[in-house]
Formats: sequence, C-alpha cells, structure tokens
Amino acid sequence: MNEACGVVGVAFPTSGAALSIYHSLYSLQHRGQESAGISIAHEGNTRSIKGMGIVPWVFKGNDLLAVPGSVGIGHVRYSTAGGSELENAQPLTINFSGGTIAIAHNGNLVNSEELRLDLEQRGHIFLSDSDTEVIAHLLVKDLMRNNLVEAMRRLMRRIVGSYSFVMLLNDILVAVRDPLGFKPLCLGKIESEGEQGYVVASESVAIDVHDGEFVRDIAPGEVLVITRDRMESHQIYKQKNTAHCVFEYVYFARPDSVIDGRLVYDVRLKIGERLASEHPVDADMISPVPDSGITSAIGYSKKSGTEYIEALMKNRYVGRTFIMPSDTVRKRAVQLKLNAIKQNIKDRRVVLVDDSVVRGNTSRRIVDRVREAGAAEVHVRIGSPPIVSPCYLGIDMPTREELIASQKSVSEIEAAIRAETLGYLSIDGLVESIGIPANDLCLGCLTGVYPVEIPGEKCVLRQLRLEEFDCGDSGEVSSF
Ligand code: SF4
Repeated sequence: MNEACGVVGVAFPTSGAALSIYHSLYSLQHRGQESAGISIAHEGNTRSIKGMGIVPWVFKGNDLLAVPGSVGIGHVRYSTAGGSELENAQPLTINFSGGTIAIAHNGNLVNSEELRLDLEQRGHIFLSDSDTEVIAHLLVKDLMRNNLVEAMRRLMRRIVGSYSFVMLLNDILVAVRDPLGFKPLCLGKIESEGEQGYVVASESVAIDVHDGEFVRDIAPGEVLVITRDRMESHQIYKQKNTAHCVFEYVYFARPDSVIDGRLVYDVRLKIGERLASEHPVDADMISPVPDSGITSAIGYSKKSGTEYIEALMKNRYVGRTFIMPSDTVRKRAVQLKLNAIKQNIKDRRVVLVDDSVVRGNTSRRIVDRVREAGAAEVHVRIGSPPIVSPCYLGIDMPTREELIASQKSVSEIEAAIRAETLGYLSIDGLVESIGIPANDLCLGCLTGVYPVEIPGEKCVLRQLRLEEFDCGDSGEVSSF
C-alpha cells in the first residue's frame, strides 16, 4: 500500500515561502516519493519547479533561496489516479482570464471520470489524466462567474471522494478539506526571518520542522482563505459524521504527527497493547517489521511483558520501486531491504508485529527470512484487521482478487505465510485504539462498506447527496 500525496501551503507577509515549503516537503516525504513540486506567487506571476523523484533530487537548496515570493504551495506525490509521469507531477497550474491557479491535491475523486467526460463534451481539453485537473477545470469555470468562496462552494457540491488540497489563486492561498475529512490537513503558525506566517499541511510534522505552533486541524468541509495579512475560515459544508481514513493511524502518517486530535504514536502503542490482549502467545521476543510496526511492537511488548528485541534491520537507502521480474529477484529485494539479525533470533520463539498484510507475499518472505535465521517459532501479529476490499479513496491498493484476505480465511493466510500463528487486530480493537467513534471513520477496505457511493460497492451514505448540501457559512476572519 502506498499513500497518495502530501501537500503544504505557506503564506508570509513579504517573503520566505519557497524555503519553508521545501523544508515542509522534506518532512512529508514518506507520503510520496515519485515526484515533488513547488509553486510560488510573486508580483503577479506564479513560478513552479517540479520534477520526478524525492525532494532533494528535484530541488537544489540554493536555487530555492533565489525564488522570491511570500505565498506558495508544495506537493509530494505517489500516483493513484494518473500515471507516474512528469505531466502528472503537481502543483498543477492553469492560466485563465482571472490569473493563474496552482493546485496540490491529496486524495481521489470517485466521480472524476463522469465529470471529465462532461467537461470534455463541453470543449475542455485535458493535458494530464489526473483528477486534480478535473478540479482545476471545474473551479476555473466557476471562478469566471463567482467570487472565490462561492466558486469553492459550487466545486465542493460537484466533486465526491477524498480531497485535502491547497491552492494558489494568484497570490491567495486556499486550503480545502472534503466534507468527510478522509485525508488529514492541519494549520500552524510559523516564523521566518522575523515574520509570522501560516502553514497548512497534510501532517503536523510539517509545522514541527519550523518549530512552529500547531493551531488546529482543518475541519471537514472547511475552506481557509489566507492572504498576506489575514485568514478567513468558511465552513462550507458540515456533515453529521466524518470518515477519517484509519490507515493514516495504522501506517501512512508519521508517528510523531497529530491527526484529528490524536498523536499517531499513542494510537499505534494502543494498537500493540490491544493486539497483545486479543492474541497472546508464549514467546521469547517481540520484534517489529520495521518501520511502521515499531510502535505497535513496543505496545505489544509492554502489555505482554515479553522483551522487545529487533529481529530485522531495515536498509533505509533502498528505493521503493524497481522491477522484479522473477521470484529469486523479489526474494533478493526483501533481503536488500530487511536483514535478519541472526544472533538475536537463533533458537528463539519470535513474535513479528506488522501493520498490515496486503497480498501476503512480503509477509511470507519475511517469515521465511526469520525462520532461516534460526528462529524456533515465528508468530505474526497484525496491527489492523484483514483488508478485504480495495480503496477507492486515494490509497494505492491492489484489486479485490489480489488482496489475500479477500480470498482466504485467517487460518488459510496463516498457512500461506508459513507462520506458526497469525493474529489480526479486531475492528473494535482498532476503533477503540484510535479513540474516534466508528461512525466517524472510514473502514471501507476492512468492511467492504464505504462512506460514499461507489458503483458496485456497498455504502453507508455519510456524505449527503450533492443536491442536499448546505451549511450556514460563518466566514470567520482572523489577522496575522
Ligand atoms: S478504504 Fe481504507 S485505505 Fe481507503 S480511505 Fe477508507 S480506510 Fe483509508
């Protein structure tokens, strides 16, 4: 599984946006490594730098110092909708009669195909296959006839799915979170060269990197409009329930981020403790599958009283994508990424704690690796319930046929990955560890029931039908 993207927007009164965005993107690198980009507004122009690869490959630090401008946005991308090409790298910029808009989007629209078709039939020409371009075209159309807030209201009435995006409209920074709040987005205050500014980002670590002050999460359905000297909040749509993605807590977000009021580290610790209560086992050591299993393994160890000892060491310098044409090469890829520490493992009964099982192949190779290194027994504990359905809301996941838990029972998976025992966290265990009611979480890939309408899938319709949307907008304003 891979996260789709990380976004950041920064606004200062006179200068300093580019370098601040660059540093924030570094802290969001885990959310996407395929491409990165920055757009900066300055004296009526919007300048963008984009490229393929991770942040330090795309930007040369010194070049960035030379990009003037006080307002800008940035993006790191892992592709879901749209392929992995430079034309799909973001921010996406469009010039129109009212100036320039640049958008950096995290999420996935479930109705982008039909919206695109409709726009194409009306003569719109698309340069990429990303759903972000659909958002941009719809917005430009509405901006020709309406003020910014009304245009946003109209846009949000039409698009369905997960979206947290930041946008530049000339030199105005706009931040938007979808009405169900699938993807995280938060607001902070930062300082650069003696100036106070605002930062909006996918995760709070992008505020911490500046020693900034976390202000709050952006509310589902809220639009923030930030200019050089003031910020307006418009609660455009308000739902009874939200649908925060549970995998942000399990896997995607950094443990040092605070998302919707919960420190991800605390949630993972509780997941590990709960897993130990639900699936205890006599063992000699608890080891994480690094990195995302680390905090849950600590929780499991704490609760079970069994020692935390690392069985596997991750090589952090191995890139995430390379073509693996044969099983031997795939096996070598796991060996390159994870080395077993034989001295820690030999003759011991090992509990491996991981965040999820997707296809099952990687889990099997890891279990084999630990056994080959001399383990007496290998028990696997998973910090999430079985993934039985695909994600349509911005996470890159295999099809239902490829998801092992969609095809096999837990005991069949246990046999397939060649573990002595296998235990998954229950859905109740996950919900209670997160500490947000189940009605306010998206559990679509765990239950097969989604919070928005997806053709061919079951749905609990938490998002009002589009024509039912309405909300009194308080238009709250605050100054820098
Ligand atoms: S379907 Fe699963 S991965 Fe996708 S948003 Fe919902 S909880 Fe997250």
